[in-house]
Amino acid sequence: MLRSLAGSVVALASLCALQPGLAQRVMTESPVSAPISGVRYEVTADRAGLTEHRLHVATTFGVAGPAPVVLSLPAWTPGAYEIVNFARTVSEFGAVQGTDSLRWDKTDYDTWRLWPKRAGAVTVTFDVTADTLDNGMSWTKPDFALFNGTNVFLYPEGRSTDFASTVVIRTAPDFLIATGMTRAGEGRTFRAANYHELVDMPFFVGQFDLDSAVVSGKQVRLATYPRGVFAGAMRATAWDQIKRAIPPEVLVFGEVPWDSYTIMHITDSTFAGMSGLEHANSHVDVTTPRGNGSDFQPSLFAHEIFHAWNVKRLRPADLVPYRYDRPQETGWLWVSEGITDYYADLAEVRGGIVDTKGFYALTAGKMAEIANAPPFALEDASLNAWIKVRDGTDALYYPKGSLAGFLLDVMIRDASDNRSSLDHVMRDLYASTYKQGRGFTPDEWWGAVRRASNGKSYDEFYRRYIDGRDPYPWDEALKVIGLRMQSDSVPRMGVSLRPEESGGVRVMEIVPGSPAAGAGIKGGDVIVSVNERPAMDVFFAGGFGAMYGTKPDGTQIPVVLKRDSATVNVQVPLRFGPAPPTLVEDPAASPRAVRLRNGLLHGTTDK
Ligand SMILES: [Zn+2]
Repeated sequence: MLRSLAGSVVALASLCALQPGLAQRVMTESPVSAPISGVRYEVTADRAGLTEHRLHVATTFGVAGPAPVVLSLPAWTPGAYEIVNFARTVSEFGAVQGTDSLRWDKTDYDTWRLWPKRAGAVTVTFDVTADTLDNGMSWTKPDFALFNGTNVFLYPEGRSTDFASTVVIRTAPDFLIATGMTRAGEGRTFRAANYHELVDMPFFVGQFDLDSAVVSGKQVRLATYPRGVFAGAMRATAWDQIKRAIPPEVLVFGEVPWDSYTIMHITDSTFAGMSGLEHANSHVDVTTPRGNGSDFQPSLFAHEIFHAWNVKRLRPADLVPYRYDRPQETGWLWVSEGITDYYADLAEVRGGIVDTKGFYALTAGKMAEIANAPPFALEDASLNAWIKVRDGTDALYYPKGSLAGFLLDVMIRDASDNRSSLDHVMRDLYASTYKQGRGFTPDEWWGAVRRASNGKSYDEFYRRYIDGRDPYPWDEALKVIGLRMQSDSVPRMGVSLRPEESGGVRVMEIVPGSPAAGAGIKGGDVIVSVNERPAMDVFFAGGFGAMYGTKPDGTQIPVVLKRDSATVNVQVPLRFGPAPPTLVEDPAASPRAVRLRNGLLHGTTDK
């Protein structure tokens, strides 16, 4: 999962709570279901239903007799670590056997129990309200539906998830279907080998743009809704980014794990920010129109695609197998999310989407995010994912976990004299745990790091930087690869800004004693122009630097504001202050430091 507001100075973490926190389900065990067989799901996404945000689901299966069948819907979608209880979107529930209606009741929030009359086929039907634009949920427009299997596919309580099933999509003849699920023949029928696979393969149904390319020897599809908005040069750039990001990621693990991969991308003006949710052979993006073509776009692609290995396959043992009825707390999201984000940055620089300066800027941006946050431990932040804490550390396991990956990579290359790297750790664990059909334990993770580091102990590292809250030792670590932090003096107004969906930028906070405070700018003001240049988005701050970087301190800057409906003119005196630190290459770096740095940037080691 990854969420951000592209181009915003607002921290990534502040945008994550799209879903109201719902009470955790009471931990009672549901009764065990009678066995069911030959499971077939039919999802109707016709024009009439789509207009009313309604999907109709019919589930048919065989029973051997009158013993009660107990069926549940998941409470969450893996990757989106929040309890939603998809049963809340169900209406018109019913069950029949031939012409006989069956008696049913509920045994908990997510679970229905029904009593067959005899052996034979049973059909359960219900409607799903698909009105939430969230990549873990279901959403329709008159010409389109996104749905996740967790929202619509029932499973039998207390039975193995290892059952194959068939999915039939009933929809208009001119509607397309995109999904990672395997087609059964030429029609609109699909097959899933087991329940985990079934609910890990979301569907697009309707009118959308769809094309494909071969990348690293396998087919990649790009499905974008609505038609026409992700087209032309923008689509060509996206394809270039996808083709550059995947090969360096493949090199980390040494294999392409999918037969085909589907990128499912929704653009909608009601959505603030950009969000992605990963699956084993697809991912679903939801973005504001401004996100398309932004600098954040390749980060999102590279992050979600890397998840196909890291978390969808290589996964902490706490999350194996997924349980759909309750939260699965884990202290390892700093690896599953944070290190995924480190590899997104590496894929960008190794694939040539950004140059080395771009990689340093991505890394420095994460350092600045952490510097502005209260001290916290990565393990604690990971455990807190499910409850969306409001202490200012929510979702900070992304940037800080990414930096932990960067630190580990530097330390491993240092300890092994660049003969080994974090790439080796990932590949080692992929082979020794995922390929053996299980998740990794803490001992296995740290054992792999130690092996890659010539036996070096990471006990102190773990105690201080993963379980502890110590600041990261940047001076020491950056020196190993010939980098240093540099802070320039730039013109500063002393405001934090966020873009308005309707254009312009709104003042969020004002630094006390800053030029903006002295000039009478207030929180909530919208900046219309600076020195007659319109402030279209937060990037105008860069133009601000270019306009005033060489002017003397105290130069008066005319700023036009909108306050409620009034226009307000103020003069802001120019003042210089430190910019957030950037990472730069140290010209005096040793040849060894340059060698290690090049290894990290290019994904290479020395023999
Ligand atoms: Zn993620």
